[in-house]
Amino acid sequence: MAYSSTIREAHSTQLSAMRDQGLLKEERYIHSPQSANITVEYPSGSELKSVINLCANNYLGLSSHPDVIQAAHTALDHRGYGLSSVRFICGTQDIHRELEGALSRFLGTEDTILFPSCMDANAGVFEAFLEAEDVIISDRLVHASIVDGIRLCKAMTDTYKHANMKHLEQKLDEHRDKRIRLIVTDGVFSMDGDLAPLDEICALAERYDAMVFVDDSHSSGFMGKTGRGTHEHFGVVGKIDVITTTLGKALGGAAGGCVSGRKEVVELCRQRARPYLFSNTMAPPLVAGALKVLEILSGSTERRDKLEANTKFWRQGLTDAGLVIKKGDSPIVPVMLYNAKLSQDVARDLYEEGIYVIGFFFPVVPNGQARIRTQLSADHDIPVLEKALEAFKRVGDKYGILGLDKKGIIEKYGM
Ligand SMILES: *Cc1c(COP(=O)(O)O)cnc(C)c1O
Repeated sequence: MAYSSTIREAHSTQLSAMRDQGLLKEERYIHSPQSANITVEYPSGSELKSVINLCANNYLGLSSHPDVIQAAHTALDHRGYGLSSVRFICGTQDIHRELEGALSRFLGTEDTILFPSCMDANAGVFEAFLEAEDVIISDRLVHASIVDGIRLCKAMTDTYKHANMKHLEQKLDEHRDKRIRLIVTDGVFSMDGDLAPLDEICALAERYDAMVFVDDSHSSGFMGKTGRGTHEHFGVVGKIDVITTTLGKALGGAAGGCVSGRKEVVELCRQRARPYLFSNTMAPPLVAGALKVLEILSGSTERRDKLEANTKFWRQGLTDAGLVIKKGDSPIVPVMLYNAKLSQDVARDLYEEGIYVIGFFFPVVPNGQARIRTQLSADHDIPVLEKALEAFKRVGDKYGILGLDKKGIIEKYGM
C-alpha cells in the first residue's frame, strides 16, 4: 500500500495537534562533547551558545573522561569497531565477559549479563524467568522500559502505590498463592529524585517470601558510600535478586545495559531473553570504556563524594534562594513550578542566562506538577553552581516566585 494522501493528512493533523498543545518535543543540537559546559544550537539555525549544563545524566562527569576515551581508542585498535553478530553466535569477545565480571564485583552480585541498553535489559528480563503462575507487583511510577518489559511476559501483574509499603504488603498478602512474587521498583525515581525504601522492601520480601527487582539506572556509580547503588545506600547489598542498570548514564554515558543478580536468572536471560538473543552485541570500544569507568570508580570514591557535596550545595542554595524543591538525597533536584507555561518560561529565560535546563510538564509529570529538573554532576565546580544559582535567583525574582510556597505559586499562576 502506498502512503496515501489521506494517511499523510491524518499523520500531519496528529502532529499539528501536538504542536498546538505545546507537546511537540524539539531537540537542541550540541556542538561539543558532553560536559558541565556545552555549546548548544537552539533554536535550530541560531547562533551557538555556551551554557552550563544542568540536565544531563552525566552524574560522575565520565562521559568525556580522557582515560575512558583512551581505553575506547585502544579497544578500537585491538578489538575493532563492531562484531556484526549477536552474543551467542560470534559476538562475544574476552572483554565482554570481563565487563560482566567487573559489573558483578562492582554491584556485589553473583553474575551479570550485558544487553545493548537497559531498555533492552528490562524488555527481556521478565519473560526470561517468570511464568504464568508468577506475579509481578510493581511500584506505580516505574520507568517506561519496565512497563514495556512487564507487558511482554506471561506473569500476572499488579501494582502498589508509589513507595507505599502498607499497600505493597497488602498486595504481597493477596498473592500468597503464586509461585514467585516479584517486587519491582526503580532505585532512584527519575522525575522526583526520591529513593525506593529498599530496606523496608527487602524486609517485606523476606516476610512474604518474595523476590526483589531494582532498576538502578539513576544510582549505579554514585548512590551508597562507595557508589554501588541504592542497595548499598540502604545496606541491602546481596539481598536484591535482580538489578538492572545502564552504562548510558553515570557509568560513562555511551550505551549498554545489564541484568545482574542471581546466577540462574542471569543464565535464563542468556538462554531466553529476546533482546539479548536477537540484537547486536555491544561494540568493543564501549565495552572497554565501561571497564575503565569501573576501574576508576573501584579505585576511588572521589567523584561520587564530589557529586554528593555538589548536591548538598545546590539543594541548600536553591532552598535559601526561596525556591521550592523536592526534598531528597539524590543529585536529581526538581525545582517545582506547578504551572506548565511557567516551567517553559523559566527554562527559556534561564537558557538566555546561559543555564541549560528543561521544563517538564504533563504528560511527563502529573498535571499541575510542572517543574524544572536539575541534575548535578561531579564535573560541576562550586563557582559554576554559584553562577547558576545567581541566574535562578534573577529569573525567580522576575517571575515573583522567590519565597512563595506551593500554594503561593499556584495562587499566582494557576495549576
Ligand atoms: C535511562 C533509564 C533506562 C534506559 O537505559 P538505556 O540504557 O538508555 O536504555 C532504563 N531504566 C531507567 C530507570 C532509566 O532511567
